[in-house]
Amino acid sequence: MTTTQTVSHTMTIGGASAPSDAVFGVINPATGEVFDEAPDCTRAQLDAAMQAAAAAGEDWRRDETVRRALLGSCSDAINTHAEELARVLTLEQGKPLDRALGEIGGAARWFRYTAKLEIPVEVVLDNDRVRVEVRRRPHGVVAAITPWNYPVSLAVWKIAPALLAGNTMVLKPSPFTPLATLRLGEILQEVLPAGVLNVVSGGDELGAWMTAHPAVRKISFTGSVATGKLVAAAAAPDLKRVTLELGGNDPAIVLDDVDVPRMAKRLFWGAFENCGQVCSAIKRVYVPESLYEPMLAELGEIAQGVKVGDGLETDSQMGPLNNRPQFERVQELVDDAKRSGAKVVTGGHRVGECGYFYAPTIVGDLKDGTRLVDEEQFGPVLPVLPYADLEDAIERANATHFGLSGSVWSSDSDRAEAVAHRLECGTAWVNQHLNVLPHAPFGGAKWSGIGVENGPWGLLGFTETQTINIAKG
Ligand code: NAD
Repeated sequence: MTTTQTVSHTMTIGGASAPSDAVFGVINPATGEVFDEAPDCTRAQLDAAMQAAAAAGEDWRRDETVRRALLGSCSDAINTHAEELARVLTLEQGKPLDRALGEIGGAARWFRYTAKLEIPVEVVLDNDRVRVEVRRRPHGVVAAITPWNYPVSLAVWKIAPALLAGNTMVLKPSPFTPLATLRLGEILQEVLPAGVLNVVSGGDELGAWMTAHPAVRKISFTGSVATGKLVAAAAAPDLKRVTLELGGNDPAIVLDDVDVPRMAKRLFWGAFENCGQVCSAIKRVYVPESLYEPMLAELGEIAQGVKVGDGLETDSQMGPLNNRPQFERVQELVDDAKRSGAKVVTGGHRVGECGYFYAPTIVGDLKDGTRLVDEEQFGPVLPVLPYADLEDAIERANATHFGLSGSVWSSDSDRAEAVAHRLECGTAWVNQHLNVLPHAPFGGAKWSGIGVENGPWGLLGFTETQTINIAKG
């Protein structure tokens, strides 16, 4: 539903603030009510953003030193506006304010780190006859599309390396969480040359317009597997390059020597951080039969102690789910598990009368083949599954189309690491989960994605190789 615009949030197009004649409502998930509005980008405005990005690229790609310096300034600008950005993020996304501040601080750190990455020039042959170098060229205009769980950090994972490599960008946040990203665009407008970073907002169809747009040479997409497949199909006719960061159904395998009380807390927050709305959160945990009951009880006790509440209340440890469809999906998966005979140890119900709060939920006695085990729940529900034989647990952990991350837990980290090597996923952690770093590549195997973000590997994803082959004499 769109109405006439009355709010101050603007898109950033060609270095200027761009309102729109139409707006759409943004819901605070803590109340379930519309609390603000965002511009609904028209096709003509998208064309203008694409043209601005293409035109800005001519100069932007010329001077790497300038780009590095400006990425540092982006980091400073984010830090300067951290409190304001975090508050908007909590209001539209739901996460507790301290976590929102953590996300904004992380975005500033990511800029700072990325600004120092080297764009390599490799000499592969240098003899009497020829000198052969491999250089890196930018793609041109990048279309960046982000989801609603970490709108700011996931945008910065794209902006910083894409811009360092000499690309320019048109960025679109999720319609559920457009505001912090729009504000980020306004803030960075003060730092970056006009047209280098354009931020537009709108519904899913805007994403589809972007992926089909002839100005775009690279699509960097983070979101669900279903949409990722549409993006890949949309990229194909024009052979646009794609990086896809998609969903996960990430297993944790607990070995038989763990100290249950010590590890349960880490396991819990590996699953329930951001109300379970993390692509690489633990989505199912395999526990040896000997430790199954104690682990179930311990996780249940931790879950019961969590303070669920409005992210703006200082004692909230877990906010609401971000949106109604996701809230209903989580309820549906838990109801389905109950119907198939699963035991809900704790939770399994909404919290309060308004908003999208759901109690942290621990579920046992599930059979493989239950939807809660096989699908990505992306919410505050953790299925706990016993195993008799470690080989069987590894096989079940890998028996999925997903392959984003996984973790192995043991008092003997060598033993755990040997199992981690066998997980079919992009990141495997030992005795921890969700420790995502700017230095290390992050991406998925199988349906969890194509390509990676972060570190030098993520940077190279925003480049094409160019071989320079020079005859001597
Ligand atoms: P989604 O796929 O519904 O939407 C993601 C973005 O794509 C939104 O901006 C949306 O407007 C846009 N979009 C929708 N249809 C489009 C189309 N046809 N063409 C182009 N763009 C389109 O995902 P979501 O519900 O916002 O996010 C949750 C999903 O994202 C989960 O599956 C989660 O695991 C995944 N995710 C992955 C990572 C990762 O790094 N691998 C990180 C965070 C979230």
